[in-house]
Amino acid sequence: MNTATKIKAEAPKMTIPSTMIAATVTAFGKPLELREWPVPTPGANEILVKTEACGVCHTDLHAADGDWPLKPTPPFIPGHEAIGIVVAIGDQVTSVKLGERVGVPWLYSACGHCEYCLTAWETVCGSAKFGGYTQNGGFAPYLIANPDYVAHIPAGLSARQAAPLICAGITTYKGIKETETKAGQWIAISGCGGLGHLGIQYAKAMGLLVCAVDIDDDKLALAKTLGADAVVNARHDDAVANVQSATDGGAHGVLITAPSLPAFKQGVEMTRKHGTCVLVGLPPGEFPLPLFDVVANCITIRGSFVGNRQDMAETLDFAARGKVTAKIEMQPLAAINDVFKRLAEGKVAGRVVLNFSERSFQ
Ligand code: NAD
Ligand code: ZN
Ligand code: ZN
Repeated sequence: MNTATKIKAEAPKMTIPSTMIAATVTAFGKPLELREWPVPTPGANEILVKTEACGVCHTDLHAADGDWPLKPTPPFIPGHEAIGIVVAIGDQVTSVKLGERVGVPWLYSACGHCEYCLTAWETVCGSAKFGGYTQNGGFAPYLIANPDYVAHIPAGLSARQAAPLICAGITTYKGIKETETKAGQWIAISGCGGLGHLGIQYAKAMGLLVCAVDIDDDKLALAKTLGADAVVNARHDDAVANVQSATDGGAHGVLITAPSLPAFKQGVEMTRKHGTCVLVGLPPGEFPLPLFDVVANCITIRGSFVGNRQDMAETLDFAARGKVTAKIEMQPLAAINDVFKRLAEGKVAGRVVLNFSERSFQ
C-alpha cells in the first residue's frame, strides 16, 4: 500500500502538497530564509507529521548561530517543539496511527541497543539524532519523524499548549529530578524564560520551595505569579548572598537554565552544602569553578540533557492534569527573525509558539 492510499483511507479530503515553505538556516549567524522545500516522503519506518504548532527554543538560536562544537549542516530547518497530526506512515510503522497527535522532540531517535539506550539514558546515545539540528525540524508545515521517539500528546492538551513542553518542559522536569531535591526543600532556578517559567511550575507541583533568579525584573514578576516563593535579581552584586539568605543557607538544588556564562559560577555558589547544581543552559564557552568551595562543601555539579521517553510522558501528564501551563505567545512563521532577535535580547516572556493550521481542540 502506498502512502497516498493510506492518507485517502484516513482523511478523504486531505491532499498533501508537493512543496512547502520552511524557515531555513542557510548560513550561520544570518537571518533565516523562507525557502521552498519538497514535502518529504516517509521511509518504511518513518511518519509524516503535519505541523500544527512549533515552539521556538533558545537552542534554535544556538543552532542558527553555529554556537556549539557539534554543528548542524546548512541549509537546515530548525524547530524541535513541533506538534502535529500524523498524515502519512511508512509500511513498517506499527507504533503510531494516522490521525494521531504527536510531538517531534529534540531526541529525534537513538540506536535502542547501546548501554545508554538500554538503561534509559538514550539522550546520550552516541548514535542519537536531533530534531531541527541533524534532522530537519518543525519550522515547516510538514516534517518527518521516527515513530518510536515521538511524544504522544494526551487528549485535552492543545497543540500550542503541548509545544513548549516537549523541550522546555521535559528539560526542566528532568533537570529538577536530577537535583535530587525532595518536597519541602529549596530549589533555585536561574533563568526564568522559556525553560525556567515551566521549571518553576514543575518544581511547585513537585512540592519544592522555589527561588527564581533572573536578570530581568519582568521575568521575576512573572515568576512570582507562577508561584515562586522568593525572587532574586542576578544583576545585583549581592545576588548570591540574597539567594543564600532567602533559602536559609543555599538552595538544596540549583537548576541553571540561563544562556549566559556568569549565571553558572553564580549558580554553583548558590548551592547549599552537599547540594546539587544541575546545568542545562548551553551558552558556548566555559566558566570558572571555585574548586575549594565545591570540594570542601561536597557539592555535586551535573549536566542534564532533555529527558527520555518516560520523562516525556510524565512531563505531558502534569500539563494534562492542569498542574503546569505554558505561557505562550502565538506568532506566524514569517515572524521568525523578529522572534530570534527578541529571544537573543531576553525579551520573550514564556515561549513563542509558531502557529500553523491547528486542528480544533480534541
Ligand atoms: P530563553 O531566552 O527563553 O530564557 C533565558 C532566560 O535567562 C531569560 O529570562 C533571561 O532573562 C535569563 N538570563 C539571561 N542571563 C541570565 C543570568 N546571567 N542570570 C539569570 N538569568 C539570566 O531561553 P530558553 O529557551 O529557556 O533556553 C535557555 C538555555 O537552555 C539555552 O542555552 C538553551 O540552548 C538551553 N537548553 C538546554 C536544554 C538541555 O537539554 N540541556 C534543552 C533546551 C534548552
Ligand atoms: Zn529546546
Ligand atoms: Zn543507543
